[in-house]
Amino acid sequence: MVLLGLTEKLSYLEEADVRRVERAYRYAERSHTGQMRQTGDLYITHPLAVANILADMHMDPEGLMAAMLHDVIEDTGVTKGQIARRFGRTVADLVDGVSKLTEIEFESKAQQQAESFQKMTLAMSRDIRVLLVKLADRLHNMRTLGTLSPGKRRRVARETMEIYAPIAQRLGIDHIRIEFEELSFAAMYPLRHRRLREATEAARQNRKTFVVEIRQAIENCLERESVQATVKGREKHLWSIYLKMREKKKSFRDIMDVFAFRLVVDSVDDCYRTLGMMHSTFKPVPGEFKDYIAIPKANGYQSLHTVLVGMHGVLIEVQIRTTEMETIANFGIAAHGEYKAGNTRHEGTQRRASRWIQGLLAMQKQAGDSLEFLEHVKADLFPDEVYVFTPRGEIIQLPSGATAIDFAYSVHTGLGNSCIACRVDGQLTPLSESLQSGQKVEIISADGAQPNPNWLSFVATAKARSAIRHFLKQQEHDESVNLGKRLLDQALGKFGTSYKQLKKSEIKRILKTSGASTFEYILQQIGLGNRVPLAVANLIVPVDKQHPQENQRKPTLPLEVGSQQGLLLQYGRCCHPIPGDPILGHLTPGKGLVVHLDSCRNLSDLRSNPEKCTPMTWSSEVNGQFPVELKVEVTPERGFIATLASRITEKDAIIEKISTLDKDAYTSIVDLVLTVRDRIHLADILRRVRSLGPVRRVYRVKN
Ligand code: MN
Repeated sequence: MVLLGLTEKLSYLEEADVRRVERAYRYAERSHTGQMRQTGDLYITHPLAVANILADMHMDPEGLMAAMLHDVIEDTGVTKGQIARRFGRTVADLVDGVSKLTEIEFESKAQQQAESFQKMTLAMSRDIRVLLVKLADRLHNMRTLGTLSPGKRRRVARETMEIYAPIAQRLGIDHIRIEFEELSFAAMYPLRHRRLREATEAARQNRKTFVVEIRQAIENCLERESVQATVKGREKHLWSIYLKMREKKKSFRDIMDVFAFRLVVDSVDDCYRTLGMMHSTFKPVPGEFKDYIAIPKANGYQSLHTVLVGMHGVLIEVQIRTTEMETIANFGIAAHGEYKAGNTRHEGTQRRASRWIQGLLAMQKQAGDSLEFLEHVKADLFPDEVYVFTPRGEIIQLPSGATAIDFAYSVHTGLGNSCIACRVDGQLTPLSESLQSGQKVEIISADGAQPNPNWLSFVATAKARSAIRHFLKQQEHDESVNLGKRLLDQALGKFGTSYKQLKKSEIKRILKTSGASTFEYILQQIGLGNRVPLAVANLIVPVDKQHPQENQRKPTLPLEVGSQQGLLLQYGRCCHPIPGDPILGHLTPGKGLVVHLDSCRNLSDLRSNPEKCTPMTWSSEVNGQFPVELKVEVTPERGFIATLASRITEKDAIIEKISTLDKDAYTSIVDLVLTVRDRIHLADILRRVRSLGPVRRVYRVKN
């Protein structure tokens, strides 16, 4: 008798499992010692009541143990690890999951936020048992709401109405949904609730004879056709009456003039047969027949609905369904499988849940095209979305796999563009990490920061992707115009003029002869390598004003390489030039300017097009890390690679690649790619490497 009435309810479990549940109960009782509920009861009465609610739904032993322990992490000093050691990993995960849901703060939220909260709750409970425990927890709290202050009562009730009742509905657990709605209604609008209750009770008294009469007529009809059926009179619950009055503007009398019955039969065939009988006995109201057997509701609800005109012209609402459909309608995802032959009686809740979903999918197939149906089920139970909070507590919905960058762009494009780092739940976190539901995300931004092209490899939303692309494109445009200007200036120098000296008439002429609409476009084309600067200069400067002799005497001023790497300025991967090296630029159509070593072998081909090559020099301000490739010939020796690597990194060079090839027993070749600042830095490193004992030769690879 440890568990009061619970033990009898647990007859569906094995004896050993009942003992485990009892053990969890005793542990919870010890942990909550000295704690009281607001009702004045011992705290342990609450988890016990929660377990009772779940036992009615035939929850499995782990779920029941989690119910017993669900407030232990939150309200006592017990940790998840302690629960895991005592009751196993699964129970600990469930308790932890319920605690996490409790932690989400559902302050008073706008209606559109409520749906996000629902989805967030669903997304955070991968294990359906977490949700079931949470729903039962909330149900008991709603039942004992009376002791709270009126303000708090209303707040909890509103939250239940907006978040938990819809969740119960999505999961098809109708008896919980209805109780949530009734209790919330009473707490939110106590006066309206009382009046409506009194009115309904009064109306029921008057209806009694009618109900008996109609029921008799239905039963006679069923008997004539010898169909086995249970006939249940159905009372509308108050919240749904209230909604009908408020939203459909129906009078209380109109609603109460409808008599509702439910006929539960043995088979689907009987459903349709019964429907036919009803329609031939009473006149059906056109447009009111609905076949939810052929096309089930999103949560798996199945039934036939019809409205009939009864004796004396009263309306009779009839629902016809099988016993199995009735169970699903009440218990939904938690429905137990005992009505089907061949099912194990002790099937776990999680397994039952997944079977429920399988069932939904199968029904969906039969029902044919009911896209919305599948969408609901999928969104609810296999969420493709994550829900995270902004620092101000707003919810942002993102596809799963989304990162802080996606988050930043979904808040504001400007925030995405200037994002440099992020905090997730207060911790600095890599921008590329996928976000999880329930996390709080804070973006750290800086003026003048720019999107990184690498972000494109991990963002998950189209919005972020297109914003980054747009930014890069704009930047490429600006850069190419800028580079085009410099290249043209250089080419004009050959004719003894410069970009600054260009006259309006000259620009007009080039636009006319080239057919381009703007001069900027021409500059961009030069910058992108699609137009040869010298050819453009040739078109601008009239032949008689070109000074070929002068051009031969005056050397062309080289372009300066100032930035480490722009979108249109790349370094040859063949020769890896570094600051200090003599270099030459090559205009590659579509790619812009590629900087090669003056001595690069690839350039010898390119040099046959001298107008595409442009002299270049390093700006004195150039800085950054430039990759360079080295080969080191060594006498093989144990641990040498480690010594080599530390020698190099001590000098602030970063090793990007290292590999060893054994040439023969006496010689190994180490192939290295490292980054350096310039030639001086490189020379320093080469010296250090040479001084190592086993090193016989070290040289830079330039092609
Ligand atoms: Mn609780």
